[in-house]
Amino acid sequence: MKEPFIHPLYIIDTLEEAGYEAYFVGGAVRDLILNRKIGDVDIATSARPDQVMKLFPKTIHVGMEHGTVVVVHENEMYEVTTFRSEGEYNDFRRPSSVTFISSLVEDLQRRDFTINAMAMNRKGEIIDPFNGREDLRNQLIRTVGDAKARFHEDALRMMRAVRFVSQLAFSLADQTKRAIQQHGSLLKHVSVERITIEFEKMLSGKRPSLALALVADTKLYRFLPGLDISEARFREVCSHDWMMLQRISECWTLLVYLLQVEDEQRFFKEWKLSNKRIKEIQLQLIGLREVINEGWSKQILYSIGQEASVSVNRILQLLRSEHYVNEHNLIYQYNQLPIHSIKDLAVNGQDLMTWMNKSGGPWLSKLLHEIERKVIENDLQNTQTSIKEWLLSCNRI
Ligand code: ATP
Ligand code: MG
Repeated sequence: MKEPFIHPLYIIDTLEEAGYEAYFVGGAVRDLILNRKIGDVDIATSARPDQVMKLFPKTIHVGMEHGTVVVVHENEMYEVTTFRSEGEYNDFRRPSSVTFISSLVEDLQRRDFTINAMAMNRKGEIIDPFNGREDLRNQLIRTVGDAKARFHEDALRMMRAVRFVSQLAFSLADQTKRAIQQHGSLLKHVSVERITIEFEKMLSGKRPSLALALVADTKLYRFLPGLDISEARFREVCSHDWMMLQRISECWTLLVYLLQVEDEQRFFKEWKLSNKRIKEIQLQLIGLREVINEGWSKQILYSIGQEASVSVNRILQLLRSEHYVNEHNLIYQYNQLPIHSIKDLAVNGQDLMTWMNKSGGPWLSKLLHEIERKVIENDLQNTQTSIKEWLLSCNRI
């Protein structure tokens, strides 16, 4: 057994010694076989949540009703989930009930794709009732069982399919692809938050353009917020080399830019993006539009900051813009700016009020910004003396 399975092996052993079955399951087993970086190590067991809690001193109950208990072992957290089958799906999104069961295979059967429906026991043996290993070899995303039925149970799986295409550079099995083509509209039953998570994972995967092309082929885009546009438009959006982007905010900026979204606020709200993310995107959009129209300037570098400037530059590179510059040069230019924030000015509002013997008012911030602009342009040295001299020379004091 190799890392990162060694530590949680203790959890499997403890459960087995208490007479229960326990296995590693899901993404970690898939990624181990693929020799891919392994994320969370999840465990499935025949023990019920209350029985799991009794066996381990440190547990957190996160979703006991779904059978999940987090076991804290050696400062790491592991999700331990009771084997379960999912009851009726009456609204295309979440099972109306879950039933705890004693069969591992039945638990694997409720999982989305064959490559995610494998388990590994304490000896490292793989339990693979749906031929996930074969699909891994053939690089295929295939639902466990009938694709149409599985997408009717939970339509999010269609988004998960395309996100795995992007992350693993796999293809969709024929039946799985056809079912997405036919049932995309089921996405309307899924909460936007869950869709956004999968969409962002897709955009930041290894082959975003491949996955976007599939979203075009299957017409899934028509059921995504703000993306119900003509196929030609959407294909144009897909045609760029999305892989060049490094941050998720850059992907959103490019999307909004290419789509020429009119009501940006509404678009962000529809996708339920966080305020922090929205701010990042807005800053990049300001920079991108300004640089495309006017080229880089000290003012734009200063006003959007280093991080957003680097992001904008990457998007310019993707767009093959004449304004794309070498990233090291861009950072050098940024570092060369005499100040990086208004707080770096050698004078503050108090100084100006004292020198001019005036109380505060709108004039004050106007003057501070005027000084700020001159300092950034190297028209004025950032020292108290120079600034005072300049104010005197233009009869402001
Ligand atoms: P990642 O590496 O991105 O975490 P993952 O395969 O672990 O990928 P998770 O979303 O963490 O994906 O889900 C863990 C496991 O739970 C999956 O491997 C799959 O077996 C199962 N699963 C998750 N979501 C669904 C779903 N909507 N329907 C069926 N099974 C699912
Ligand atoms: Mg996971």
